[in-house]
Amino acid sequence: MTANKWHKRTQAVHSGIRRSQYGEVSEAIYLTQGFVYDTAEAAEERFIKIEGDEFIYARYGNPTVAMFEDRIAQLEGAEAGFATASGMAAVNGALMSMLKAGDHVVSSRALFGSCLYLLEDVLRRFGVEVTLVDGRDLAEWEAAIRPDTILVFLESISNPTLEVIDLKAVADLAHSHDALVVVDNVFATPIYTYAIESGADLVIYSTTKHIDGQGRCLGGVVLGKRDVIRGPVEAYLKHSGGAMSPFNAWVMLKSLDTMQLRIDAQCDTADKLAEALHGHEKLENVIFPGHPSHPQYDLAQRQSERGGTVLAIDVKGGKEATFRFLNALEIFTISNNFADSKSIVTHPATTTHQRLTPEHRATLGITDGLVRVSCGLEHAEDLLADLMQALAQV
Ligand SMILES: *Cc1c(COP(=O)(O)O)cnc(C)c1O
Repeated sequence: MTANKWHKRTQAVHSGIRRSQYGEVSEAIYLTQGFVYDTAEAAEERFIKIEGDEFIYARYGNPTVAMFEDRIAQLEGAEAGFATASGMAAVNGALMSMLKAGDHVVSSRALFGSCLYLLEDVLRRFGVEVTLVDGRDLAEWEAAIRPDTILVFLESISNPTLEVIDLKAVADLAHSHDALVVVDNVFATPIYTYAIESGADLVIYSTTKHIDGQGRCLGGVVLGKRDVIRGPVEAYLKHSGGAMSPFNAWVMLKSLDTMQLRIDAQCDTADKLAEALHGHEKLENVIFPGHPSHPQYDLAQRQSERGGTVLAIDVKGGKEATFRFLNALEIFTISNNFADSKSIVTHPATTTHQRLTPEHRATLGITDGLVRVSCGLEHAEDLLADLMQALAQV
């Protein structure tokens, strides 16, 4: 049986493994910068062409990193991947390797803050024209994508307001103009992903999130067709220095072993919390793509088997009431990260999206009462009791 016929749980444990002459069971960490050559001729040969499983320098590639790249590519259903030092190194690498001055890009507006900075500030500074649209509105994509549009960028599910984009419809539209579709797929997770089958050309993960899943290492990956990854993406990333460290790749590899078990448990918890919080008197709103009250519930159901591990709640009474709620929580920790084994609450208006003007936040739906709730691996009943006691203090 070939690895691409395996279930994801099997792939997540076995794919991409490279064993040394010692036959170790667990993946080895190759903490080495360089590689030795038997002869001067062999060194010359390798610099002419890297064959098969050969390496030159850890910024270009490393056996532990290659195991991780092969495993995550297999899980995603992509031909190849390049692992990076962080999720943003992957976003930067994908954009910089595919774009040049004068190009036109269309992107959804509801983006992770650093992605928005790259598109609005950096790309524009280098002469790339960027049009931002409401990703939920197909008519806006249609109006914005032009014959000279080179690339379309989007988050499949947006942060922090959990808007869902009809990926297949946007990809079809982009492809009809020969534009490349680049998807930041963090919220969909590599287990419940639908990016490649919906038509994404490049898929990006911050492996900092569900893949590590335990709040330890930064990492990222760009996935796609072999000629694109081993071509322009690798050329840019290996020379610009965004490579993943072998140690972090090893942490990510071992995390993949347990990823589906963790994500399933976290999705179960998110389902329970969304259902229990829906209609709570202290809340304006509960936003969760897996709950029938979500405005794009049908699309979310069509695209993904699960609703996800993160929900957002809008606390009545503005910032003051919301801070009282946050400070009253006993199990949830206040942080700006998510997809950790520890449950985390984030107040985007005063942290991750503080940089934006109040008007800009309003267009993104980031109110003073909005709290992102990331479900960890604690027992769902304890988490629910914690949320309820904290809401009672508002
Ligand atoms: C976290 C995140 C990133 C950036 O990842 P880092 O690993 O922190 O660099 C990019 N996009 C989305 C949607 C994210 O959630």
